[in-house]
Amino acid sequence: MQITQSTKLFSLAQQRLPGGVNSPVRAFKSVNMTPLFITRGQGSKLFDKDGNEYIDYVGSWGPMILGHANPEVVSKLKETLDNGTSFGAPTEGEILLAEMICEAVPSVEMIRLVNSGSEAAMAVLRLARGYTKRDKIIKFEGCYHGSVDPLLVKAGSGAMTLGIPDSPGVPVSFVEHTLQAKFNDLDSVIRITEENSQDIAAIILEPVAGNMGMIPPEHGFLQGLRDLCDREGILLIFDEVMSGFRIDFGGAQSLFGIVPDLSIFGKVIGGGLPVGAYGGRQDIMLQVAPSGPIYQAGTLSGNPLAVTAGLTTLEILKEQNPYPELGQKTAWLCEELTTAAETAGIQIQTQSIGGMFGYFFAENAVRNFQEALNSDTEKFTRFFQNMLKQGIYLPPSAFESLFISTAHSDEDLERTASAFRKAFKD
Ligand SMILES: *Cc1c(COP(=O)(O)O)cnc(C)c1O
Repeated sequence: MQITQSTKLFSLAQQRLPGGVNSPVRAFKSVNMTPLFITRGQGSKLFDKDGNEYIDYVGSWGPMILGHANPEVVSKLKETLDNGTSFGAPTEGEILLAEMICEAVPSVEMIRLVNSGSEAAMAVLRLARGYTKRDKIIKFEGCYHGSVDPLLVKAGSGAMTLGIPDSPGVPVSFVEHTLQAKFNDLDSVIRITEENSQDIAAIILEPVAGNMGMIPPEHGFLQGLRDLCDREGILLIFDEVMSGFRIDFGGAQSLFGIVPDLSIFGKVIGGGLPVGAYGGRQDIMLQVAPSGPIYQAGTLSGNPLAVTAGLTTLEILKEQNPYPELGQKTAWLCEELTTAAETAGIQIQTQSIGGMFGYFFAENAVRNFQEALNSDTEKFTRFFQNMLKQGIYLPPSAFESLFISTAHSDEDLERTASAFRKAFKD
């Protein structure tokens, strides 16, 4: 496998783009490599500048649940494109996408479209604080909610991989209202609420953590948070930017049967174009401008192209309900990975739900951020590099989740499993 063209582009890129990329994890820094420059995606495959082909398990970090360049999505996009790309005025598609999300996720009675998950997180905090007239929020160590100042505290993912859990440029006063709890540790949350009773506006979390590696909620954790919020008048916010329409059509809240007050979305609901959204209880959402006083706006929000890609993607998902099959496929990959590692005497932990899965090189099940940090990242790096050489494109960080699409064929999976076996033999 030659990557000379990508290497050349990366040195050019570094002259004009900090680190050569427009988002940190893409730089392949934590796996001691330089990134591949992608020219094309088709179905389950990515193609780089040197003409190499890869089976893709990044899926643009989640959105591409129908695979790359899905013909229906592309054709709808072309139709929309011919009619103009942005008007700064209402369009019918926005109602249809809102309707689709509200129907799939019953806790969402009203919704506001924005342009990214980060933007949704920023807006939902303002809304929660404005509505409750309280300032403090609880977040969980290792949960990521975008590059949002008050949430960039032990934020997992890119921030964690680069070792900048608290980014310079975030004033201490901006995070003074951010309280940190431990994922899967209800007692840690109860302690914080006791110390700050009456001051906490919201608890925000990824109901299935996906940005410190994949860590599902333990039995009773989400329900415990719901009960606590009810007792204390705190709003429960699910960040379903990753899990929404990815692990199940109705997201984690439908799968686990927990009703949050507010939710945020992104990734899949944009079908590969830039979209985010926040929504929830009608009485809260009516506080958003212009129906209420809590300000939030966006020049390109509800953009016709983005809405078309998102709506078409959700329509296909609704019709096909691919989640059971995606779940079987990710579970199968996890079994194959476990067997391959254990045969080579390497300890590994895997988990999967629907179209999302993950693994840690660790002795015991990983339940929180600290345990994720204790996993063996050197083993991860060797494994990642070996898999890439074999044409399998995995997330280039030990603290990211993997994604498959409806375009991943049995043959893709077989090839991946055989690459697993070879990776641990080398
Ligand atoms: C990706 C992600 C975000 C941020 O979304 P962007 O579109 O990258 O701003 C927020 N929360 C979670 C859980 C995510 O996975």
